Amino acid sequence: MQKIEHIGIAVKSLETSNEVFQKLFGEAHYKVEEVESEGVSTSFFQVGPNKIELLEATNPDSPISKFIEKRGEGIHHIAFDVVDIEAEMERLRGEGFILLNEKPKKGADNKLVCFVHPKSSNGVLIELCQEIR
Ligand code: ZN
Repeated sequence: MQKIEHIGIAVKSLETSNEVFQKLFGEAHYKVEEVESEGVSTSFFQVGPNKIELLEATNPDSPISKFIEKRGEGIHHIAFDVVDIEAEMERLRGEGFILLNEKPKKGADNKLVCFVHPKSSNGVLIELCQEIR
């Protein structure tokens, strides 16, 4: 793994939270993107070298709906940049981590992604991200 690619924050309303985080960072989000397969609408903020992703559920079965029901709004996942996602998935499987995706799938912001079950990583949902070249 190379570095933290972004931190994902679950929110009830992108519209409301975009304003909150715009005030916090002093700058507006640079992109909004819906990821239909995940049932989420996302917005991205650039903060110096770092990225923050806000996630709002687009349907009641979305993982974000379930997360907010159980735990309320807040930090949802930490994403790490990887060079070769397949190799990294293979390595993590070998180390006994539970992967939530059989194969990498298309995520927001031009990435191939795979999630690691929080049960196998001390309660933290981890996302692997590989830039689609
Ligand atoms: Zn993410």
